[in-house]
Amino acid sequence: MKIIKCSKCNEFSKTEPYCEHCNQLLFTEETRKQEVLQSHNERLAKPKVDHPVLKAVKAMQNHRFFVVQMIGHLLYGIGFVVFSIISFIAWLVAAIAA
Ligand SMILES: [Zn+2]
Repeated sequence: MKIIKCSKCNEFSKTEPYCEHCNQLLFTEETRKQEVLQSHNERLAKPKVDHPVLKAVKAMQNHRFFVVQMIGHLLYGIGFVVFSIISFIAWLVAAIAA
């Protein structure tokens, strides 16, 4: 049996998960695990939203004019290459620092 000090009334309580004096939810490992699991499930349930710039580039790729489509593909490719180079530099800095 665990004896836990309540953060609200500062009394020691033997009952879990609620304080036997003020009925406050006690902060235990189990309640923390439940909070993390609930937060994780909420984040998974949220629909994935693209960045507005990425949304605009994808809209350009599906545009009815061929020239605009090509510009969209070019911008997407440039973004991919820049992201790859920055990722490589970040990895290099982390590898050197470690
Ligand atoms: Zn209490």
